Amino acid sequence: MDTKDLERKFHMIGGDGEKSYARNSSLQKKASDMAKHITLETLQQLYKETRPKSLGIADLGSDLGCSSGPNTLSTIKEIIKAVEVAHNNEISNQPLPELSFFLNDLPGNDFNSIFKSLPDFHTELKRDVNDGDFHSVFIAAYPGSFYGRLFPEKTIHFVYSSYSLHWLSKVPPALYDKQGKSINKGCVSICSSSPEAVSKAYNSQFKEDFSSFLRCRSKELVAAGRMVLITLGREGPAHVDRGNSFFWELLSRSIMDLVAQGETEEEKLDSYDMHFYAPSAAEVEGEVNKEGSFELESLEMLEADDEKENVDDTSYGNAVAKTVRAVQESMLVQHFGEKILDKLFDTYARMVDEELAKEDIRPITFVVVLRRKL
Ligand code: SAH
Repeated sequence: MDTKDLERKFHMIGGDGEKSYARNSSLQKKASDMAKHITLETLQQLYKETRPKSLGIADLGSDLGCSSGPNTLSTIKEIIKAVEVAHNNEISNQPLPELSFFLNDLPGNDFNSIFKSLPDFHTELKRDVNDGDFHSVFIAAYPGSFYGRLFPEKTIHFVYSSYSLHWLSKVPPALYDKQGKSINKGCVSICSSSPEAVSKAYNSQFKEDFSSFLRCRSKELVAAGRMVLITLGREGPAHVDRGNSFFWELLSRSIMDLVAQGETEEEKLDSYDMHFYAPSAAEVEGEVNKEGSFELESLEMLEADDEKENVDDTSYGNAVAKTVRAVQESMLVQHFGEKILDKLFDTYARMVDEELAKEDIRPITFVVVLRRKL
């Protein structure tokens, strides 16, 4: 599948039904909450430095498919509150700045569902945000891939992106041999059984993509503009660990289980590869330095390890299975067909629980703060 195809076909499950991303993204929400204080501090610092009359704020990969948009709209609300605090600390005798929010996601996203919830959101804002004058909040959507240009030059003060940058622009072409066959057999991502060429291919795709991302944003951000990027990552140089990669290893094993039961063909599993990469801190820093337009202000590693007790589901495995289904279903359906999905994710939930009973799985998240150089 090429980039254009992928941009059309990849999306989270829309709406607000039982399987929707909206109802199954609480794992992402919890870690973003942990990152909240970093976002707020960064915004206040930015405000202090630039004291803008109006602020352009972009949320990249905001997933507009959530009908009630829980993560997107709560992010917007937090940002508004932070700007209000920063403003009142700095220059309380002047009117609050106008805020323009630019929401971005791939064109296949269900944009309308968020637009429909905007009138209620504006009503809520008027009620929750103290200042009676704070009505100058404008919300627009900019569909497109964040690996290309999205906004006019120097119009954005603050970029926020949560749980989106680990999605590559495409499955690395180097995963396929001359006959077009995947060299990553029996696995959907980087697994313990993958040849070294597989992690190399993913790594070089990440480098290409992340440097395009930085280059495009460097044009769009004003001087001293900030980016807060929340993304899944790896603890160290090893590509295979008991972190994020292990969840994909278990997905591969679950599909293998269905192959063994004759529910799908081995060839289908062999030819399925995800466009996902969790970089290490050193890899992120390396690309930032190489591109040169941004200063790395901070990079924090979050380990959401108390989550397992807090999920409101029958088991942690079930919660993980629902989250993974909400983000991968659109791609799995096209490749394997709809029929296998229920069984696949039942198996997957069971495997996650079995593995957890043996030893912890510790997915990690990076919160990266970048400052556009002057
Ligand atoms: N920010 C939300 C949604 C994360 S889900 C949250 O924190 O809950 C990841 C989102 O990134 C999806 O909506 C997906 O469509 C989007 N995405 C993936 N690749 C993208 C790209 N190249 N450009 C824009 N959006 C992308």
